[in-house]
Amino acid sequence: MKKRIAVLGSTGSIGTQALEVIQAHPEAFEVEVLTAHNNADLLITQALAVKPNVVVIGQETLYDKVFEALDAHNIKVYAGKNALNSVVQMDTIDVVLTAMVGYSGLEPTIKAIEAGKNIALANKETLVVAGQLITDLARAKGVNIYPVDSEHSAIFQCLVGEFHNPIEKIILTASGGPFRGKGQQFLSTVTREQALKHPNWDMGAKITIDSASLMNKGLEVIEAKWLFHLQNQQIDVVVHPQSIVHSLVQFQDGSLKAQLGLPDMKLPIQYALSYPHRLKNSFPRFNFVDYPQLTFEKPDVETFRNLALAFAAMEQGGNAACVLNAANEVAVQAFLEKKVGFLQMSDIIESCLAKVAYIAHPALTDYMATDQETRRVAQEMIKF
Ligand code: NDP
Ligand code: MG
Repeated sequence: MKKRIAVLGSTGSIGTQALEVIQAHPEAFEVEVLTAHNNADLLITQALAVKPNVVVIGQETLYDKVFEALDAHNIKVYAGKNALNSVVQMDTIDVVLTAMVGYSGLEPTIKAIEAGKNIALANKETLVVAGQLITDLARAKGVNIYPVDSEHSAIFQCLVGEFHNPIEKIILTASGGPFRGKGQQFLSTVTREQALKHPNWDMGAKITIDSASLMNKGLEVIEAKWLFHLQNQQIDVVVHPQSIVHSLVQFQDGSLKAQLGLPDMKLPIQYALSYPHRLKNSFPRFNFVDYPQLTFEKPDVETFRNLALAFAAMEQGGNAACVLNAANEVAVQAFLEKKVGFLQMSDIIESCLAKVAYIAHPALTDYMATDQETRRVAQEMIKF
């Protein structure tokens, strides 16, 4: 039986790579739904190539354009947030791949889980914002969440066959980004263009800035806590500039398992979709002789404060990680628009964590209010 897949955010970095994986395996997968936000042209091109039954364009003003292009091809077209939230519940979907960016993933992911859909999760921000709520809901609905993030895919792969063996700890690897080894003085002058040049991975703009500031690793620490049901002190981070060891698990007997490979998101995307099977592919293979040195070092959390802030938010619990995420989204956008400097991003996040009211046991409406309030507070800081 083919898996019928909804690709949310099909026009992004993960979305386009997911379509390559899906198209390379017509025996295993078919596309049921594609969604995008603004990029109507690419959405139309993709739809004509993979023939989904339904597409959703987020921007309602683009509906006519997409409809005119796809109606004759028997592809249903919808627009807007509410459409996205109902489409993910369609009977004809087996797996929902969440590859949209940021907080926008929260509601559609909840709707998909409510309808019993398994999730291939790229959109880490959803677990950062509301990890407790999402994992409780998934458990109640018997839904599996398969990680797409390469580090979490590595851990997931290391855990296969270890169901009865408790984890002592996990070690997430971090490339360190383009500014590894630099100090605060250097960081105070870095430009948007420098920050957008990641040494190992080609990704969307938001996650590329997050990687440069180490916030990406902070978000991944919180993502890992929820995905693998860990205590905070069971999660370590090590910087590994070559991005070959994708992460590690240590078991009670001290044994460490790691998953290795070239930095290429197509493998974790494919595994999240094909689990429990492994499918043949022609991705380039890792060769030890090309990498005579694999190195590891401690992250510098004094220079890269975002990682420390993420650990602190995780420690606080409640809505703190939701505050962290919203403040970071606003800060990254402002940095991309050249309204704030690189180091100011951490100032904005730290200040929001101090100012926005703490809620120990948030419900969905609390997360929504926290997200809005944090964005307001963060925007205030950018104005001055
Ligand atoms: P991109 O910015 O490349 O793509 C984002 C996608 O989401 C696009 O399809 C975009 O549509 C859509 N989108 C943007 N805003 C909204 C919105 N408000 N509502 C609905 N859809 C929206 O991001 P990436 O592919 O890099 O990242 C996607 C997710 O995957 C992120 O959470 C990221 O952290 C995670 N991830 C990414 C990795 C990577 O290698 N890129 C690695 C690991 C995790 P449009 O193009 O039309 O604007
Ligand atoms: Mg990652």
